[in-house]
Amino acid sequence: MKYDIRIERTKNPAPKPDPDNLGFGKIFTDHMFVMDYDNAHGWHDARIVPFDNITLHPAATVFHYGAEIFEGLKAYRTPDGSVQLFRPIENIRRMNNSAERICLPQLDEEGALDALLKFVEVEKDWVPSAPNTSLYLRPFMFGADPFLGVHTVDKTTYMIIASPVGSYYKEGLNPVTIMIETEDVRAVRGGTGYAKCGGNYGASFRAGKKAEEKGYSQVLWLDGVERKYIEEVGAMNVMFMVGDEVVTPALTGSILPGVTRKSCVELLKSRGYKVSERLFSLEELKEACASGELKEAWGCGTAAVVSPIGHLAIGDEIYTINNNEIGKVTQELYDALTDIQWGRAADPFGWITKVN
Ligand SMILES: *Cc1c(COP(=O)(O)O)cnc(C)c1O
Repeated sequence: MKYDIRIERTKNPAPKPDPDNLGFGKIFTDHMFVMDYDNAHGWHDARIVPFDNITLHPAATVFHYGAEIFEGLKAYRTPDGSVQLFRPIENIRRMNNSAERICLPQLDEEGALDALLKFVEVEKDWVPSAPNTSLYLRPFMFGADPFLGVHTVDKTTYMIIASPVGSYYKEGLNPVTIMIETEDVRAVRGGTGYAKCGGNYGASFRAGKKAEEKGYSQVLWLDGVERKYIEEVGAMNVMFMVGDEVVTPALTGSILPGVTRKSCVELLKSRGYKVSERLFSLEELKEACASGELKEAWGCGTAAVVSPIGHLAIGDEIYTINNNEIGKVTQELYDALTDIQWGRAADPFGWITKVN
């Protein structure tokens, strides 16, 4: 079921930004998608309107009880000038899973995909064409009931905003330095770890800040129950090449099921790699580091695609992985995924959705 979308175009289109200085998420396009919900009317008043500030009641649920979920995906400009999305239905399904977890309303899958595609169509000129640039899309949903009683949300807003973004890697794919976080946890089983909700980020800021102060770029999260198993790296999923096996933590409920993670697993399996989604303990990681069995490690997510890990700090020990150089499998994944995303290679998996 498609939503009936009203389109109101801006009378003051902004000049397009310098493609060399886009950064990440600082510049926004001319329009935004907005749609409202309440139990009495369901989803209604879908509209693409000029980008502007929004007005909310100071008691709106999102400010007090963290009723907020979001998604992140990109629109890519291909060599022939067309625009395409990478597995957008996965983001819409995940959004609905996130919504279910914190009792926000479900979107119609077909309608949400249609809205996303229509929005990108309106903003098509904002999809940059310089190498490795893209238009980052941020769908999000929040509770807007104007009262303070602790309650499940009725009045809800769903929006999509977009930001042209530059290459995540200014100086090539440089390995990062990671610290194991042993105090804070990001999420626990039974909590909201598998949902993409803003509250998870609030819980992760302190560890990220501490790591940064110590000179590391990210933390490696352990599970919140036993503090024993590897979960994610920063806000990315994580993979390890141990011997001839690619290992990534199994989706136990506290890990965000990344679209990039899923794509890496499917791609590697299709190329004959041995891939295991299983529990992977810190103990096992340490042993693999010490024995030299750990060949490569990388984070994966939409923003960076893959991010090689060059150093791993476990307590006072610092292990160097693959000579602090990007590994063969990491590079292979980066090339294969980005070639499909930017339309430089055929898409044998059916992952691409074209924008009109
Ligand atoms: C969004 C996100 C990821 C990566 O998901 P992708 O769909 O690959 O972008 C991983 N971990 C967390 C915590 C996230 O929020």
